[in-house]
Amino acid sequence: MIKQPERPIQMVDLKSQYLKIKTEIDAGIWQVIDNTAFIGGPAVQNFQQHLQEYLGAKHVITCANGTDALQIAMMALDLQPGDEVIVPAFTYVATAEVIALLRLTPVMVDVDPHTFNITAEIVEAAITPRTKAVVPVHLFGQSCDMAPILEVAARHKLWVIEDNAQAIGADYTFPDGRQQKTGTLGHIGCTSFYPSKNLGCYGDGGAISVNDDELAQRMRMIANHGQNKRYYHAMVGVNSRLDAIQAAVLDVKLKRLDDYAKARQEAAARYDAILSKLPQVEIPARQHNSTHVFHQYTIIIKEGSRDALQQHLHNLGIPTMIYYPVPLYQQEAFKNSGTGIEKLPVTDYLCRVVLSLPMHTELDESQIAYITKGVQSFFES
Ligand SMILES: *Cc1c(COP(=O)(O)O)cnc(C)c1O
Repeated sequence: MIKQPERPIQMVDLKSQYLKIKTEIDAGIWQVIDNTAFIGGPAVQNFQQHLQEYLGAKHVITCANGTDALQIAMMALDLQPGDEVIVPAFTYVATAEVIALLRLTPVMVDVDPHTFNITAEIVEAAITPRTKAVVPVHLFGQSCDMAPILEVAARHKLWVIEDNAQAIGADYTFPDGRQQKTGTLGHIGCTSFYPSKNLGCYGDGGAISVNDDELAQRMRMIANHGQNKRYYHAMVGVNSRLDAIQAAVLDVKLKRLDDYAKARQEAAARYDAILSKLPQVEIPARQHNSTHVFHQYTIIIKEGSRDALQQHLHNLGIPTMIYYPVPLYQQEAFKNSGTGIEKLPVTDYLCRVVLSLPMHTELDESQIAYITKGVQSFFES
């Protein structure tokens, strides 16, 4: 067994990343404190503007977190209790939670067993006369195949709300060659700046991207207590804002987002080179018309026990995570709010066989060599 690398291996290494940009981050934070513009103000305005330009979206509305972004988007669409919203069962809970919270019905569907994402066929099969919206989740960092999904949605007059919390920076290529950022492909895009996300702040944060002026206006109002003019409330809204210190951090990191994606892609390529040789392991499949920004590097353990491999790696000092251990439709919380799905075989299967390896911007060659040796040694023993 090769010896442990000098820097301990972490799922996400935010400290090493911070140290490389410390001067700029610290200056940004101190400037906010110096201005005492803690809510709104220039830091938030600047970041909003820069993110708009980066995504190529007409409007960006920042908010308190990614879950709020999804909720505000759902609230803006004038959906009625009982209206159905199609979501994957293989995702983070937030995607379906906000739907249930608004008394809408989450209709949980299966995903593709290799890309982990929903497809147009899966969506179309779940459509009923009550279906009003679909939430494609660009899971682990690559886009769903959106062109056919958008086509199905248009045919059935469905809203398309992208959950872009894990894929900010990914590019999707339409059949005509047009390239666009995820989060700008459907009607509304929602993202999260949770610290471990690809564009993470030092606390909570989120944003909504949208091209439609009227929807943008509505969502801005909803995020701000339903008011347009101070103390005049046209609708019942929420209080959801990105604080200025987080915006200052994000503005520094946004400039590096593409470089961060490159570092993640290089780490993924190094993993691929070794792990693709193991017959027991399926490396992450790439959606042919999307780039992959590797929020997670998630492998499938085809033979043998995923849990025993995880324990083996743990014993070697290698952290791993299972995203996600339980299908959403089997969660206690959704027992009475879903549409009584009996079985989603792919989701059930994935929850048993997926394993996410350490993935972040600071992984070096020796760390990846140690991790891949660790995986190899499990199957050799
Ligand atoms: C992180 C995440 C969210 C929620 O973001 P928060 O900022 O934690 O509220 C929603 N959907 C997916 C797929 C996520 O990964």
